[in-house]
Amino acid sequence: MNRVRIPILMYHQIAVEPPKGTPLRGLVVSPGTFYRQMSLMYLLGYRGLSMGALMPYLRGERHGKVFGITFDDGYENNFHNALPVLRRFQFSATCYAVAGRIGQSNIWDMDQGVGQVPLMDRIQLQAWIDAGQEVGSHTSHHVDLTLCDAQKLESEIAGSRSLLEAVLAQPSGVQHFCYPYGRFHTGVLRQTAKAAYASATTTQRGRVLVPVQDNALALPRVLVSRSTTWVHLLLKCFTAYEDRRGTQE
Ligand SMILES: [Zn+2]
Repeated sequence: MNRVRIPILMYHQIAVEPPKGTPLRGLVVSPGTFYRQMSLMYLLGYRGLSMGALMPYLRGERHGKVFGITFDDGYENNFHNALPVLRRFQFSATCYAVAGRIGQSNIWDMDQGVGQVPLMDRIQLQAWIDAGQEVGSHTSHHVDLTLCDAQKLESEIAGSRSLLEAVLAQPSGVQHFCYPYGRFHTGVLRQTAKAAYASATTTQRGRVLVPVQDNALALPRVLVSRSTTWVHLLLKCFTAYEDRRGTQE
């Protein structure tokens, strides 16, 4: 029997596209495109879910036409441009916030010449949760975890969870994690398990093979970028197109 595969979509910014030549411009999806992508999935009978709501499906305990929606970094434009669309279709999504950068900007990108974009502040993150969405952790400072010593790993992985849980009222706490730059190794996995996260997502391409077992802390995703057409989206979500295509930034 063919095992079920569930796509988890990976978005970053939902905003009007920046000028040509802007670094990482490819990771900005326009609000209109995001709306059309969500309406396409909705019309096909699929429901977009946050990681918390998706877990029973990934574990094979529940069955249905579902897909995951994730946003990396916690940009303010997710709040303004993605939230109204998610609400319209009654979808939920997980936004992975950088715990030590709440209300600041993506300064970790600065030395690559990436433009500074505001990140959601505490009030917006709380409003995101209160609107039925989820906040996960994307470390405390958006570091490459493979370059951290044990103490730093603990503060970035477990520490970011405590930090977010201290400032946000999320009924289930912060149970979902995402590796910055998709970078992790066995030591990172061990710390993520120790911090008792229920899932962790990577930038490895592909859909999740159901049921997840001990691999819930290294889940692949489907990147949606500026150049992802609706045909690509369908191929990535419903065919083997994206599976085992390696890693991506
Ligand atoms: Zn990131």
